[in-house]
Amino acid sequence: GSEDLEMVEELSRRAVAAVDNARLYGEAQAAVRLRDEFLGIASHELKTPLTPLRLKLQMLQRQVNGARLEGEPLSAERISEALDVSLRQVRKLTDLVDNLLDVSRITAGRLRLELEELDLASVAAELLSRFAPSAAQLGCALELHAPEPVFGRWDRLRVEQVVTNLLSNAIKYGAGRPVVVRVEEDGERARLTVRDQGIGIAEEDLGRIFERFERAVSDRHYGGLGLGLYITRQIVEAFGGTVRVSSQPGQGSTFTLELPRGALPVPSVR
Ligand code: ADP
Repeated sequence: GSEDLEMVEELSRRAVAAVDNARLYGEAQAAVRLRDEFLGIASHELKTPLTPLRLKLQMLQRQVNGARLEGEPLSAERISEALDVSLRQVRKLTDLVDNLLDVSRITAGRLRLELEELDLASVAAELLSRFAPSAAQLGCALELHAPEPVFGRWDRLRVEQVVTNLLSNAIKYGAGRPVVVRVEEDGERARLTVRDQGIGIAEEDLGRIFERFERAVSDRHYGGLGLGLYITRQIVEAFGGTVRVSSQPGQGSTFTLELPRGALPVPSVR
């Protein structure tokens, strides 16, 4: 009768609610796990540069004290080496903290863009020459194919940040093989591709590497917070552009960035 029907309806409503609850509970648990994992990685990454920094500063302190007390001469070479190492570690820490700040700016919808006329080809050329020495230390050659200037209205620092992220990943995960950057115009859009021939990315990871805190490699040999590509995508989307990847494990990856050349981006993203 109708009572049976009501009871069946009530039971199925409860079943649906129970499944919903279980799903929400699962999602909340996964979010907590991701946060805890992130805190672990972030603390490790922030602490790593601090040890060499402290050691070098202690060494400098001993040298300076020794020189003062015993009239020992200060070795300019050792001082300069200690300062080089220290500054490198400070730069690493600054980059990490800047990335964390960017993520909170993005989640709060406070990413501001200051537009100016730029040539993407010369931005890429400048960054390649900035990165060439550190890439060369890994045996990695950087090649640029940008036969023509490609003008558009973008935020210089943000465009540099995006290209820097793609380039430094290509060098980091590039197994010391050449990295090729191309810049070209495609009608209303500018296209920049970064191709490496390194470790590549497994198909099941391709979708999640642009998410916050997501890293495809669990290998601690490759340090990182898994924030670079998330920030990259958020910035690119704020310009009304896209970033995508194609990759083969063991063969390398190609990241393709497309930016509208003239469109006015929204002032901030969420
Ligand atoms: P990370 O700080 O871990 O490098 P990113 O957000 O820049 O963070 O990248 C997310 C993950 O995507 C990386 O941990 C790595 O697994 C993968 N990845 C990014 N770029 C490349 C690349 N060029 N080749 C292989 N894997 C890459």
